[in-house]
Formats: sequence, structure tokens, C-alpha cells
Amino acid sequence: MKLIRLVLSLAAMAIAAVAADAPAATTLNVLVVGGGSSHAFAKWWGEVDLALLNAMPGVKASYTEDTDSIVPMLATTDVLYLANNKPFTQEATRNAIMDFARAGRGGVILGHAGMWYSWNDWAEFNSVIAGGGARGHDRVAPFEVKVTAPTHPIMKDVPATFQVSDELYWYIPEPAGTPIKVLATVSSPSKKAEFPSIFVVDLPKARIAGIALGHDAGSHDTPAYRQLLKNTILWAAGR
Ligand SMILES: [Zn+2]
Repeated sequence: MKLIRLVLSLAAMAIAAVAADAPAATTLNVLVVGGGSSHAFAKWWGEVDLALLNAMPGVKASYTEDTDSIVPMLATTDVLYLANNKPFTQEATRNAIMDFARAGRGGVILGHAGMWYSWNDWAEFNSVIAGGGARGHDRVAPFEVKVTAPTHPIMKDVPATFQVSDELYWYIPEPAGTPIKVLATVSSPSKKAEFPSIFVVDLPKARIAGIALGHDAGSHDTPAYRQLLKNTILWAAGR
């Protein structure tokens, strides 16, 4: 009798394991949005990052600079990766992004220019989704990124410190905005101050991450950035 019970419970465990694995087998859809000024968006996000993401097992990433075309795509998007400083001109698009982020149905990644204070008509983007933003940066130069939360899944296999050559963003959290958890910091020689470089935004239900790095090859082509981006996609998708 005991043996039968053991066999039955093992069978039940096997079925549960298959069920738990099942969602991971489905496609992870990433929508990368670029476009705007001061950056080669199509090259660094539309080609280099996109190729990296599409090489991940199960990931299907697409890229657009048509910022007002994304609303219908959100229904099948698991991770929305915003790097654009090109405006979302339609209020319906801005509302759809807010709803997408707030509901936690999919994750959101803010890459580099995507965490700038770009929107005169959308303060909520910075205060709620980004938890703050950047209004300035140091000129492109080599600097060190220091991981401060090494056990966070976004930092898996990322070195404790690593070098990039990039614009050092002066991202500042908003005191009344959504709180952030800092995962890595940078130290600005011009400001003589530390700034968050990699962080997550603690909006209930949502999965939002910020990666301040990414002006050009000086980050996108480094192993640390590439590992970080892959980890962030999986974390934002809840995988
Ligand atoms: Zn830049």
C-alpha cells in the first residue's frame, strides 16, 4: 500500500513539474522601441541588442521606431524595452504603456535615453514608471560600474565591477516617485557624486528595470552589458 502511495505521489510530482515547466516553453516576446535624437538607435538597439535577444532560447524580439504603432503589439508583448526619446504623440499610447506597466502583465525595461526627462506632456512616465530620470550626463568616457546587489537575478554572472565607455547618466530618483532598488552604481567625476546605473522600480505588481548604460558600442559590445541585458529580459518577463 505504501509503495502504491509512493508511486502515485511521484507521478503527481512529475505532472506538477511538467506543468511548472510549461510556461517557460512558450515564446518570450520582446518589443524594443527606439528612435529620436542623439543616438544610433537602429544600430545599437535595432541591430546589436536585437540580435543578442533573438539568440536567446525562446525569445522573439522585434524593433520599431514607430512609437505610435505599438498599442496593438502590447497584447502579445512580454517585455517592453523602451530606449527611445522620440515622443509618443498619442495620449492613447501613453495610457496603454501606463496600463501595461501597472498591471504587471509584462515587464518594462528603460534603456539609456529611455529614462531621460523627455516628455513635457507625460510627467507620470518619470515619476511612476522610471521612479525619476536623468536631465544630464558626463561626456562619453571610460568609467567603472559597481554592482551593489550581487544576489539579484539581474546581476547573475555579471562581474562585481566592470568597465564601460559611455555617457555617465545623472539619474536621480524622485522623492515622491515610485521607490527604486539600486543594483549598480557609477561615480561621476564631474559631479563628485554616485548615481544609480542599474536599478529596479518597486511599483506594485509591475516588473520595471532601468539600465542607464548604452550610448553606443562602449556598452552594447561589452560582455558585462550583454549579460546584464539578457538577465534583465528574463527578470522582466518573470522567468
Ligand atoms: Zn546617449
